[in-house]
Amino acid sequence: MERKRGHRTLSAGELARLLAGLHGQGYGRYREIRGSYAYPAFTLEVEKVQVDPYAPPTRLAVHLPAAQAGLPAELYRTPVRRRAIADHLARRLADALARTAFAMDAGGQEVLDRSACQVTAGGDVVLRLGVDLPGPGRRIDGRQAERLLCRALPEAVATLRWSALDAEEARRFVATVEDADALRRMLPELGLVAFVADGAVLPRRSGVDPRPLTGPHVVRFSSPPSLRVEVELPNAGRVTGMGLPEGVTLIVGGGFHGKSTLLRALEYGVYDHVPGDGRELVVTRYETVKIRAEDGRQVTRTDVSPFVAGLPTGEDTADFSTPNASGSTSQAANIVEALEAGARVLLVDEDTAATNLMIRDARMQELVAKEREPLTPFVDLVQPLYAEHGVSTVLVMGGSGDYFDVADKVVIMDAFQPRDVTADARAIAERHRTGRVSEAKRFPAIRHRVPDPDSLDPVVRGKSKIKARGTDALQYGDAHIDLGAVEQLVDPSQVTGVGLALARLRDRFLDGRRTLAEALDRLEAELASSGIDALRAGYAGDLAAPRRFEVAAALNRLRGLRIAGFRE
Ligand code: ADP
Ligand code: MG
Repeated sequence: MERKRGHRTLSAGELARLLAGLHGQGYGRYREIRGSYAYPAFTLEVEKVQVDPYAPPTRLAVHLPAAQAGLPAELYRTPVRRRAIADHLARRLADALARTAFAMDAGGQEVLDRSACQVTAGGDVVLRLGVDLPGPGRRIDGRQAERLLCRALPEAVATLRWSALDAEEARRFVATVEDADALRRMLPELGLVAFVADGAVLPRRSGVDPRPLTGPHVVRFSSPPSLRVEVELPNAGRVTGMGLPEGVTLIVGGGFHGKSTLLRALEYGVYDHVPGDGRELVVTRYETVKIRAEDGRQVTRTDVSPFVAGLPTGEDTADFSTPNASGSTSQAANIVEALEAGARVLLVDEDTAATNLMIRDARMQELVAKEREPLTPFVDLVQPLYAEHGVSTVLVMGGSGDYFDVADKVVIMDAFQPRDVTADARAIAERHRTGRVSEAKRFPAIRHRVPDPDSLDPVVRGKSKIKARGTDALQYGDAHIDLGAVEQLVDPSQVTGVGLALARLRDRFLDGRRTLAEALDRLEAELASSGIDALRAGYAGDLAAPRRFEVAAALNRLRGLRIAGFRE
C-alpha cells in the first residue's frame, strides 16, 4: 500500500526514516518511497520505482535551483550554451557516481541535448538518473538504500556546484561547443558544405572505440592551400581549415590513405564534439545524410524511379515497395528518402555503396543495352541533383575515374594528407574520354509521401513499448526496426528519442493529410521551442534529441508502415 501523502514534500530525514522502516521488508514495498523529498540543496523526486531487483533501475530526478547550482549567468544565456553546460554537468555527475548503483546517462564524444541533464533559461539544473535499489534475496536493504539516496547522492550532487567545479574546464567545454555550433551555422553563407580545421585529428582508436587515435604515427589534418578558408569564431577567434564548397566533391586516393576516415569525420560533423576529441572544429551542414547500400531493408511506397525504372517484372518504381531490397534499390531508396526528409548534403563511401548504382562504364553500356538495364547510375544524376535541387554530394571513390567528369572538386588523400587535384583530374578526363553516354539529364522532383498515423502504433497489450537496442535497432511496439545501417546514430538514448519522436508524429503531427516532411517540420519546431521535454511525456528513462533524418530513417524501415497517398 502506497502511503497517501498527496503532493506534500517530505524532508530528506523523513526519507531516511522511511527507508530504515522498510529494512528487511519485501522488495515490492520500495514503491512506498515514490514522491518528492526536500534536501538542503535540492529536491529529489523518486519518479518510478523498480518492481524487483532485476527490473530497469528506479528513476530519480534532482532539481537543483539556480541559487544552489551557482552557474555564472553567461554560461546559460543561449540555448547552445545551456546544452553544453548541461552536457558537461552530466559528465561530471557520471564521474562522481562511477562504479556505484547509480546510472547517469552521460554521452560519448558527441554533445547532445539529453534528458539526463537540462539547464533552464533561469539557470536551474535538472538531473535525471537511475538507481538500482539494493535488495538481496528480494528483501529491502534499507540501510544501504539510505546510504545511496541520503548520503552518496547529495555528496555527488554537491560536486556539481559551481564553487566545486573546475571553472576553467567548464568554460572551455562551453566555448568548444559554441564554436562548433557557430561554425556550422556559418557554412551556408560561406557556400560550404563542410569545414575541417587545420590540426584536426580524424582517425579513431578502433571501429568500436570512438576516442581519438594517439601516438607519433597520427597525422594531423592540414588543408590544401587552394581549399583553405579562414573563419572567425566567437571563442577561438581566427581559425583556418579546408572548406568543401557546395556541389560535387570527389575524394580519391589509394587504399589505406585515409579516405573513409575523412568521410566518417564529416558524417559526425553534424554533431558537436567534446574538447580533446580532435574533431572539435570538423563540421558539416546540419542537413547532411550518410548514404549507403543496405540490402534486405524494408521499402514502403518510395519513388525510386530516378534510379530504377523498367523492371523486368513491370513493377511501378515510382511507387515501390519490398520487404527485402537489393543493394542498389536499397541505396536508391536511401537517397530518395533522405531528399524527402530535407537532406542538403549526401555523403557516399565506395566501401559501403552498391557499385552498379554508382557507375556503369562504356564497355558495360555497349554490352547491356539501356532498355535492358533498369538502373541509372549515380554518376549521371549527381550533377542534376545539385543543379536542380541544390543538394551537394561528397563522395569517396578510389576505384573509378568516371566521376572526374562530374566532380567540381577532386581531393586526393595521400598518406593521410589531402591535396587538391581538381585540375589534374580535369586534364586526365580531357585526355582519356570515357566514351560513356550520359543516361540522365535531369533529376525529377521528389514525390512526397503521406504516412498513415495508425500504422505507427507503439502500443502492445495496452502499453507503449519503445526500447533502444544499442544504436543498431529500435523496438517499437511489436516491430523491430533495424537501424544498423543508419550510421549517424551515435548514442542509444538518441534511438530512444527516435522512438518517442515516432510516437509523437503519430499522436500529434501526422493526420493522414500531412506529408512526412511537413510533419517533421512541426516536430522539429516543437523540439526547438519546448526542448526535449516535448518527447518525454510519460517516459521515465533516458533519451537524447534525435535529428529529423534519423526519425525519418526509422519510419522508413518500419515493417508495417502504411502510406496513405502522395503529394508532388
Ligand atoms: P581508405 O578509406 O583510404 O582505405 P581509411 O580511412 O580506412 O583508408 O584509413 C586506413 C587506416 O589508417 C585506418 O586504420 C585509419 O584509422 C588510419 N588513419 C586514417 N587517417 C589517419 C591519420 N590522419 N593518421 C594516422 N592514421 C590514420
Ligand atoms: Mg575506405
